[in-house]
Amino acid sequence: MAVMVSNLQNFIDGEFVASREGATDPVLNPATGEEIAQAARSDAGDVDRAVKAATAAFETWSRTTPADRALALLRLADALEANGDEIAAIESQNAGKPIESVKADEIPAIVDPLRFFAGAARCLEGKAAMEYLEGYTSYVRREPVGVVGQIAPWNYPLMMAIWKIGPALAAGCTTVLKPSPTTPASAVRLAELAADILPKGVLNVVLGDNAAGAALVEHPDVAMVSLTGSVDTGKWIAEHAASSLKKVHLELGGKAPVVVFDDVDIDAAAEAIAGFGYYNAGQDCTAATRVLSSTKIHDDLVNSLAEQAKGQVLGDTDSADTTLGPLNSARQRERVKGFLERRPDHAEVVTGGKEPDRPGFYLEPAVIAGLRQDDEMIQREIFGPVITIQQFSDEAEAIAWANSTPYGLASSVWTRDVSRAMRVSAALRFGCVWINSHGLLTSEMPHGGYKQSGYGKDLSMYSVEDYTHVKHVMAAHDF
Ligand code: NAD
Repeated sequence: MAVMVSNLQNFIDGEFVASREGATDPVLNPATGEEIAQAARSDAGDVDRAVKAATAAFETWSRTTPADRALALLRLADALEANGDEIAAIESQNAGKPIESVKADEIPAIVDPLRFFAGAARCLEGKAAMEYLEGYTSYVRREPVGVVGQIAPWNYPLMMAIWKIGPALAAGCTTVLKPSPTTPASAVRLAELAADILPKGVLNVVLGDNAAGAALVEHPDVAMVSLTGSVDTGKWIAEHAASSLKKVHLELGGKAPVVVFDDVDIDAAAEAIAGFGYYNAGQDCTAATRVLSSTKIHDDLVNSLAEQAKGQVLGDTDSADTTLGPLNSARQRERVKGFLERRPDHAEVVTGGKEPDRPGFYLEPAVIAGLRQDDEMIQREIFGPVITIQQFSDEAEAIAWANSTPYGLASSVWTRDVSRAMRVSAALRFGCVWINSHGLLTSEMPHGGYKQSGYGKDLSMYSVEDYTHVKHVMAAHDF
């Protein structure tokens, strides 16, 4: 299903408007490299306009009842679900995703969390009201932080946007959302649907590049900034938010270790790992791309992973058979190729890593063996269809290598030995550990990092709490 997405504008105070200067940037389909739209390029003045609208709307939205906010979010979820096929087509065209995977995986992961956040709006918790000091009653209020600047990446454009705006709106915050400059189309469709549901100014969408994001971070009336993006951007934001001590919520990169012991069914493990490693062309912060294998099964696992890589169907994103789409941009493909080109002599390219002869930003899925713990491909997030595999000699070495990168977002351990699974999952320093699985998330459970993968949680009650301040109110009995 091809949909026209052209002339994408900002959504401010309930209206679609061009950027003040009229500047625009082209938006491409990564599967063809062709332009599909022009999108507004906003500057600090556009951001200021959006923040003013959000500030005005905060006065009323922050005082709505949780039930009213829940109803609005439920309606928005219904509207997104009802338009799911069209949204999937937009996302597929603009982000270069196989359309069937957007329909099957992303639309549910957009709609269900929104419904969860609707319920969560009504379930915020605090300590019991009590006379903790004799003659005084204390209780806790959870209050929305204020206007939130929310900055989204390009790998799951609408899903990441919803995981940001959902908890913020549920908590009673108002928001200015800035999607990635390469993937703004679905955020604009979100705004169109929200226009009929949310009061004006509650959700604003400002399109543009990093400068628009920076203007949000530096705006004095923005109380909190939430980013899903790279570690470098997260550090920049934390540093610049510090000058006004804005609250910061950072969901950053990852380098998930996949620790495979020798008691697993090798082919079944390889199939699952390749599925989670090559999903979304490896452009996933939890991607199962850093395999650590027990020496005993290493060669068989390498062969099995290579078979899985060769079995990926790279091609037309409209085809139901396609499992591997392009990378998001020419720049991202160059970045991934750079890792492959700089590989050390001891690295073995078992399969893949070449540009196929077709338009768009595709790259053949790769398996790389022989790497060492200090190698760049092990230490840095590649964010492409590249699975590396190292061999460990024992459990202690596996844990040490798994933990020794700067990241701490997600990890998995594969074994039939329950005691070992428990031991290793406790020892892994990551915000998530899967046992005999990888990559699955659920609205009720938190998603977020340790170490340089950031702080703050997406999904779950924790994410809604992140968008609140806790206030202690104490009342004297005698006055
Ligand atoms: P990016 O950091 O380049 O950009 C993310 C967003 O930040 C974009 O909207 C960009 O315009 C904006 N931005 C960039 N510089 C900015 C600045 N100085 N001030 C304000 N905004 C700025 O990341 P990306 O390449 O779009 O996304 C890929 C990264 O996101 C990967 O590292 C990936 O691991 C991470 N990611 C993390 C999660 C998670 O949940 N932890 C989920 C998805 C993606």
